[in-house]
Amino acid sequence: YPSLSKLIIISTVSGGGLIAYSEANASSDAYKAAPMETGIKKKKVVVLGTGWAGTSFLKSLNNPSYDVQVISPRNYFAFTPLLPSVTCGTVEARSIVEPVRNIVRKKNVDVSFWEAECFKIDAQNKKVYCRSNQNTSVNGNKEFAVDYDYLVIAMGARPNTFNTPGVEENCHFLKVIFLASPVGSCLAVSLCTYYFPNCKTASSLEDAQRIRRTVIDSFEKASLPDLSDEERKRILHFVVVGGGPTGVEFAAELHDFVTEDLVKLYPMVKESVKITLLEAADHILNMFDQRITVFAEDKFQRDGIDVKLGSMVVKVTDKEISTKVRGNGETNSMPYGMVVWSTGIGTRPIVKDFMKQIGQTNRRALATDEWLRVEGCDNVYALGDCATINQRRVMEDIAAIFSKADKDNSGTLTVKEFQEVIKDICERYPQMELYLKNKKMGNIADMLKEAKGDVAKEAIELNIEEFKKALSEVDTQMKNLPATAQVAAQQGVYLAKCFNRMEECERNPEGPLRFRGSGRHRFQPFRYKHLGQFAPLGGEQTAAQLPGDWVSIGQSSQWLWYSVYASKLVSWRTRTLVITDWMRRFVFGRDSSGI
Ligand code: FAD
Repeated sequence: YPSLSKLIIISTVSGGGLIAYSEANASSDAYKAAPMETGIKKKKVVVLGTGWAGTSFLKSLNNPSYDVQVISPRNYFAFTPLLPSVTCGTVEARSIVEPVRNIVRKKNVDVSFWEAECFKIDAQNKKVYCRSNQNTSVNGNKEFAVDYDYLVIAMGARPNTFNTPGVEENCHFLKVIFLASPVGSCLAVSLCTYYFPNCKTASSLEDAQRIRRTVIDSFEKASLPDLSDEERKRILHFVVVGGGPTGVEFAAELHDFVTEDLVKLYPMVKESVKITLLEAADHILNMFDQRITVFAEDKFQRDGIDVKLGSMVVKVTDKEISTKVRGNGETNSMPYGMVVWSTGIGTRPIVKDFMKQIGQTNRRALATDEWLRVEGCDNVYALGDCATINQRRVMEDIAAIFSKADKDNSGTLTVKEFQEVIKDICERYPQMELYLKNKKMGNIADMLKEAKGDVAKEAIELNIEEFKKALSEVDTQMKNLPATAQVAAQQGVYLAKCFNRMEECERNPEGPLRFRGSGRHRFQPFRYKHLGQFAPLGGEQTAAQLPGDWVSIGQSSQWLWYSVYASKLVSWRTRTLVITDWMRRFVFGRDSSGI
């Protein structure tokens, strides 16, 4: 890893704009761009983050007319869908990561990487301010600034604790959130980056490894002599908060780890083990088809995983977790040994600050238009978990499509007009179908689907107002695309393609005809293609929900899961390592050494 002073030279030669500065003279004058030494002035693209969105952007970018600078506090890409497998040793941590430098090494584009954390974005002066993770420093400082022509924000999100007391101090997370304090127990004694900027960042990968060690430590602790039964049971009580795909997968993995491997090594404590899954809503996996939800709940019951529905966590202390039962408001407390928190995502402090700066308050994520441009800024793009396409505009568009079609202002449309409207909406917003399905508004979803072919006559004789009402019901769901790797990766590829054809599309705009000349954009808008989702349920059983409402549950889906995930891994190296890990697990079981 070259020192930062060397990086300045590299950057200057390639026309980059890395500027070292000291905290003492951190006035705006101090941030002067390094002079361009090369004849051709390349446009500087700064990418913040090397997760799904940032990496897929980098992989697909192939226009050599850019000078790309990547900034991320971790120098690798982690394949997050396999993180739950890391928590139980099914897959090794190293197998699911790929160094960023390996990913960009063979590109025809100039790419530099700085292992640092961006702590401020100054959109007005087109600069980002960063802090190095390393102890070596630039001119005695760990901070530096980078200027850009285009900024791509792909910083992901952090877990949402809903400000529940005690969660940050006592729970484990499967996501980057806090900075691991140098002291603390085996449990995640973590402190937030925001308040303790000098601590070292913990990555989701380190969190996953820490969870694995804590599980094994719990078994060792519970095996010590002179423990009361009560204390042993407390230590071996594993609580998972959140019944979404990640929480469910982790609970299933943990159950398999315990029943297939650990109980053989710790037979004396097996009766004391308990896994509890807490979910605030009425069902787990509620974004999946009902058949999957029912199957998962039944399976967990058979496996002895205690699923408590309608249970909202209100407080976590070092030994007890308290929940409030929805409906009767009753509060219960239970002793625990380890809690894993997996309840959705929140905004990173730096993104929050940036949103404040550009007047985007009261939002979970940065609002962009359908071309992924951050609203209210020039040349700033945001993608992945830290961004959301502003669907207010979508609803406005839909309303406009209706008004345009309703030529006589009667409030009803003719068959032909309605057909046009639905076709238009479907073409522009394919995800609409999915959201309607999730809302169990099957008939409208079917209409939308049919609209691609022939629309059934009776389906069309619908009052516009009713239809609009139905659409506005899905408005809340439409507001966010799911925060998944699938969305982030597709957005990364989309944006890279836009950058690859920037000049070409300047001359020949490809956006829909109606946008030309209106100043909206020269590219086609981003369209999410939902490819389906998996929910591994343990015991070699997986639920799969694929497009076209195709649901499959069982061992065959587990094999599909193995093949899809193996094919999606970022390199042949990681693919080989993961497949070898799976085979090792089949033959020898999971490693329970606690290393
Ligand atoms: P991330 O992948 O989180 O990447 C964010 C990047 O920004 C990281 O490189 C980080 O180091 C960097 N960064 C953070 N702060 C800064 C800063 N201040 N300056 C610069 N860089 C910064 N999705 C699926 O589709 N399928 C699954 O099966 C699935 N399973 C999951 C399992 C787990 C345990 C988790 C946690 C998530 C899972 N997801 C899954 C969700 C998926 O991982 C996310 O939606 C996806 O990672 C979002 O990509 P991203 O690029 O926006 O953010």
